[in-house]
Amino acid sequence: MHDLYIIKLGGSAITEKEGNRFEAKKAVLERIASEIKKAKDEKGFSLIVVHGAGAFGHTNVVEYGINNGVYTDKQEEGLAKTIKDCNFLNSVVVEALKGAGLDAIPFDPNKIVKQDNKKIVEFETAEIENTLAEGNIPVLFGQMVPDKSFNASVVSGDAIICFLAKKLGAKKVFLGTDVAGIYTKDPKKDKSAKRIPLIDKSNFEEVIAQTEEAKTVDVTGGMKGKLEKLREMLKGTTTLIFDANKEGSFYKALAGKEVEGTEIRL
Ligand code: ADP
Repeated sequence: MHDLYIIKLGGSAITEKEGNRFEAKKAVLERIASEIKKAKDEKGFSLIVVHGAGAFGHTNVVEYGINNGVYTDKQEEGLAKTIKDCNFLNSVVVEALKGAGLDAIPFDPNKIVKQDNKKIVEFETAEIENTLAEGNIPVLFGQMVPDKSFNASVVSGDAIICFLAKKLGAKKVFLGTDVAGIYTKDPKKDKSAKRIPLIDKSNFEEVIAQTEEAKTVDVTGGMKGKLEKLREMLKGTTTLIFDANKEGSFYKALAGKEVEGTEIRL
């Protein structure tokens, strides 16, 4: 098998997350899909695509109060709506990938992931592995899944990439978000923030102390949550974080060319 690459399309990059609007950024998705296709044709890597839920997940989860358990009829209604909305976003992503000539196959985490206390405890990956072996591209996403303690809980796109990267031995992980990497401060709030080109064991603690929790309706920890999950799961995998909205960034990153961003090697 070719080297396995895992791509994360950040919810903040592909939906109107900051405005909490249920809107997928189709033009962005189409551009990213064509960049992925170009790089894949050149490099021939195996690929899994994971996308965040952005507004489609977080807004519902907050509105229906289902981040700490699903017990009431209203919460059940919110759960059903969230699952449906995340699937809708996924269909838009899959369509964009297919439109660019990529053989994308959707996998709803609700059917293959189980959690306990908001942590993944079961993840059926056999079909994902078959799909990869056939040369196709499994597409997963942040979603609500069954939870032994809470009836249901959120599994984030970040948790999915970390789990799959470790289990399937990904060579590289690519996180396309709405800022050009990890900065000394939140670059959206503070113009003096400086990008950190490389994070390794020597500066990880310092960086995580500077990173803030998400300021949008993100219930999965934002950039800080991302870093903590990466530390737990991605030892030995190179991770690149860059701005998905910047034209050419996905192509350059996947093709191994210089891209403005943060490289993480832990
Ligand atoms: P995504 O939805 O793409 O997975 P998140 O919304 O979870 O991304 O995290 C990205 C956001 O994290 C950025 O929009 C940025 O405003 C915020 N952020 C907070 N602290 C930092 C930091 N030190 N460096 C970079 N981004 C940061």
